[in-house]
Amino acid sequence: MITELKASKLMEVKLTGLFGYPVEHSLSPVMHNTAFKELGLDYLYLPFAVPKAKLAEAVAGIKGLNFEGVNLTIPHKQKVRDYLDELSQEAELIGAVNTVQRCNGKLIGHNTDGKGFLRSLVEEASFTPQDKKVLVIGAGGAARAVSYQLALEEVKELYIANRTLSKAENLATEVGKKLDLNKAEALPLEKGALSSIIKNLDLVVDTTPIGMSPQVEVEPVIEAELLHSNLLVADLVYNPVKTTLLKAAQKAGAETLSGLGMLVYQGAIAFEIWTGQRAPVKVMKEVVQAAITE
Ligand code: NAP
Repeated sequence: MITELKASKLMEVKLTGLFGYPVEHSLSPVMHNTAFKELGLDYLYLPFAVPKAKLAEAVAGIKGLNFEGVNLTIPHKQKVRDYLDELSQEAELIGAVNTVQRCNGKLIGHNTDGKGFLRSLVEEASFTPQDKKVLVIGAGGAARAVSYQLALEEVKELYIANRTLSKAENLATEVGKKLDLNKAEALPLEKGALSSIIKNLDLVVDTTPIGMSPQVEVEPVIEAELLHSNLLVADLVYNPVKTTLLKAAQKAGAETLSGLGMLVYQGAIAFEIWTGQRAPVKVMKEVVQAAITE
């Protein structure tokens, strides 16, 4: 217990944490504190309920106190950029920051969501995006991170399908232009709209919350009969680990990838930014999985 540490030892504790509103359901504290303990690091990760109006003061506290950095979640991922000194390439492109690093007195904003997704793809599904044909479903914050990362990895064709077509159009145009993609196309998310392209695809990524607990018994986001055995189907939802979409994909003979890996790897990359040490991904995954199934 931290309260049992001697005063001299307490002075050495390096602080990290999560700024958001609300924060009480986050799995990040248990994931990071388990990782710090595993490597014997004197770091601590705390959840901070920071309302919108208090963000500037909270960020000033990162510099003023001995924080190594923090994570940001809803509703701060965009606004926090106004209070930082520098942004990483990913954070700049995605337009959102989920990790702040205090480095030589400066605050640097990173976005580890896209890279976390990529590491999950490569390490858990042995999938390399370069020259592949991919469909991203959804056009919200997670879709931005995934679409930019896939474009940075030089996918051959990027399709973005969304319920609100204009949002998919904006994202596809933006990613296509900024990263000089030959093919970045928007599609409506409606019955029949995906049937002509899906047979040639290598990867489908669902970034919508469809199938997330407690509403697990729902129709998959796309028609099950479109799925085929040459696909890798990834769902960013991690609770449940096997969503209705992943069950349908498995039935069709496709490879599947749960959002649990992205959750763990985006945290692992933040851990590595703060500590400079390789994250103990195995224990992080175990503790998160246990917390989900509790
Ligand atoms: P967001 O910004 O609110 O975007 C949600 C997207 O889903 C929008 O494109 C929205 O379409 C679409 N959508 C929502 N409900 C829908 C429905 N019933 N039918 C069709 N489309 C629907 O949310 P986000 O931050 O991108 O997060 C999305 C999901 O990803 C959440 O479940 C979140 O938990 C998960 N996520 C997981 C990780 C991870 O580490 N595994 C990381 C980030 C996010 P419209 O534009 O038409 O509203």
